Amino acid sequence: MIRKYIQVKGIVQGVGFRPFVYKIAMENNLIGNVKNTSSGVYINIQGNKNQIDKFIHELRYNYPKLSQIEDIIIEKKELEKYNSFNIIHSDNNENGMTLLSPDIAICNDCLKDIRNKNDGKRYNYAFTNCTNCGPRYSIIQDLPYDRVNTSMKNFVMCESCNNEYKNPLDRRFHAQPTCCIKCGPSLILLDNNENIIHEDELYKVKELLKLGKIVAIKGLGGFHLVCDGRNYDSIQKLRDRKNRKYKPLALMMKDINTIKKYCHVNDKEEEILLGNRKPILLLNKRNDKLPKNISFNNHSIGIMLPYTPLHYLLFDKDLDTLVMTSANLSGMPMIYTNDKALSELKNIADYFLINDRDILTPVDDSVVKVVLEEERVIRNARAYAPLSFKKEVGNIFSLGSHLKNTFSISKNNYIFCSQYLGNMENLESINNYKNSVKNLESIYKIEPDIVAYDNHPNFWHNDYLKNYQCKKVGVYHHHAHIVSCMFENGIDEKVIGLAFDGVGYGEDGCLWGSEFLVADYKEFERVGHLNYMKMPGGDNATKEPWKMGISLMYNLFGEKLEESNHRYIKEKNYKLLTTMINKDINSPLTSSMGRFFDAISSLLGFDRRVTYEGEACVELENMARESEHIKDLYNYKIINKDNQYIIDTNVITSEVLKDIDVNTKKSVIAIKIHNTVVDFSYKICNILREKYNINKVALSGGVFQNDILFVRLYNKLSDNNFEVLTHKKIPCNDSGVSIGQLIIANNRR
Ligand code: ZN
Ligand code: FE
Repeated sequence: MIRKYIQVKGIVQGVGFRPFVYKIAMENNLIGNVKNTSSGVYINIQGNKNQIDKFIHELRYNYPKLSQIEDIIIEKKELEKYNSFNIIHSDNNENGMTLLSPDIAICNDCLKDIRNKNDGKRYNYAFTNCTNCGPRYSIIQDLPYDRVNTSMKNFVMCESCNNEYKNPLDRRFHAQPTCCIKCGPSLILLDNNENIIHEDELYKVKELLKLGKIVAIKGLGGFHLVCDGRNYDSIQKLRDRKNRKYKPLALMMKDINTIKKYCHVNDKEEEILLGNRKPILLLNKRNDKLPKNISFNNHSIGIMLPYTPLHYLLFDKDLDTLVMTSANLSGMPMIYTNDKALSELKNIADYFLINDRDILTPVDDSVVKVVLEEERVIRNARAYAPLSFKKEVGNIFSLGSHLKNTFSISKNNYIFCSQYLGNMENLESINNYKNSVKNLESIYKIEPDIVAYDNHPNFWHNDYLKNYQCKKVGVYHHHAHIVSCMFENGIDEKVIGLAFDGVGYGEDGCLWGSEFLVADYKEFERVGHLNYMKMPGGDNATKEPWKMGISLMYNLFGEKLEESNHRYIKEKNYKLLTTMINKDINSPLTSSMGRFFDAISSLLGFDRRVTYEGEACVELENMARESEHIKDLYNYKIINKDNQYIIDTNVITSEVLKDIDVNTKKSVIAIKIHNTVVDFSYKICNILREKYNINKVALSGGVFQNDILFVRLYNKLSDNNFEVLTHKKIPCNDSGVSIGQLIIANNRR
């Protein structure tokens, strides 16, 4: 007889790990105990050697599918006087490092329960869950993950639930949020005057949706605004009330077959749709059978499958497609409390379907897509966050970016990246950010020794930064982008980095965004970029792409812009702009690829104010779709100046204008622009490969969400024997910046 003491680290809480340990201990006639602590699961097993070996084999290779084992440490110990195998109560521990499990979509067993008419406890019950599924991160207040540390603590389990909870062989053994119709949360339906509607809530909600009403529904990580996804008028009503003119709306569809009616779905995409995370997946449309106002002028559409029991119960044979958009007021964080929903959404929603299970950490729906056969995360949130990585690092907190923010913190060789927190453009968003930081810091008991921040001089976090008395490390935006991509790919050496995005503050005080860097985890050298253009009106030019169009033309014609007499400028009120550019009034310099794309998009007819970030670029990409087969490109010039390779846009602009003059199809011009960017990027990479003897190229920045550009550049580089590093788990957009900041700060310790 021997005894072993085993520590298991990783995602091992709330995923059915202890019941699994119990089961394999029973099967092998072992005695001892298992305990959850905030630093992992601890197991004492005693018995004969053969059976202990079998136990360890099972532990290593057949663990529950939701867990993620980082480490198993096994020690030999003195024999103890155990009588049986027991699960002992969790305790709290100061250096907690157990990884939080994200929220998990409802499993098939629970789905059977809610559809089983003979199940008196859970038939049609919207809060059904078990050890293999249900809320986690969104309801946790503290570790270890026990019911008292979640928002389920207010619900006392009925006898029957308690029996399941205590039975090691039950699927709901120690399922912390477990409950049933008798003892768990319940649905409440109200109209927008807060009158409670006393009818079968689920039946009534479906009726209301079919009548074209808009219902605010509390989900797993926050509220959604919901309406019938096949009803053009309700969708328009939702857009008008929410003041959301063009930004695409996400859909939830009843099942995979419904999705296949409207979209192309390949094997990888099907796997993601049906998996246990259920993100919004961007899919290519198969036809135009869905209302046009779901996603205008767009080849793709964001769709998810139901992920909570409540969602499943919202569909029936006459209702198979719902618009499900995060409930927030324009630019504000998502609403997740009943009170706030009822007060702030009363002019948008006709009805409210709320419940009494509190959401403690709001989490948006994640957004992913499959490009080059890989899942690529665009928005890291529900079921994906917090992201964790194992790496030897100090205690660091990195604040992240201005737009599409996430933050990252690290401790004890782990890095955690928060869920997507949106744009830091108003007090509400910043407060929401601060709360999320406080939550994660307190759950993991982290006190940072270093804070990493963006070097932008007037950044949203300047005041907040003063609260931290520790060492502070300033990082440049595009360096952080490239390092986030390197880190994701496990590359710690000098690489060529292409950071193409909106704008980020650069070393020379200008707004960078088409940067070719030679970078490692510590430093970077800027070795190339687009020539500078002025941004008349500063940030405002981002909102009004035609201003970039004028600026691009001004680069070419200068004072002679008027004489050029080009039809593009005819109806534009450009004189004020050229004065601003000329006299240098509020016209910062930018090398942004996003702004360059904006300018071209505008030349091709995009003439409105953008209603969401990157709208004009998205439209340019969609224009190009129609002529994807075309390989032509524009001439360009690369100038070598002070050891930097500068792409002169004037040659490109003048050729685009010529094409416009001869009425070349817009889609042809759009694809030629894409091809041109691919070509000069490749060419500069080639020059840099020779000069620096580096063969690895990292592609990062939000512009690489443009699939045409990304795929063509990737292929061109790989075909020419470059090793190309790309983003998968960490978004290529600004949501990835916090990880880059953290790694850089760690290397400057
Ligand atoms: Zn389940
Ligand atoms: Fe960026």
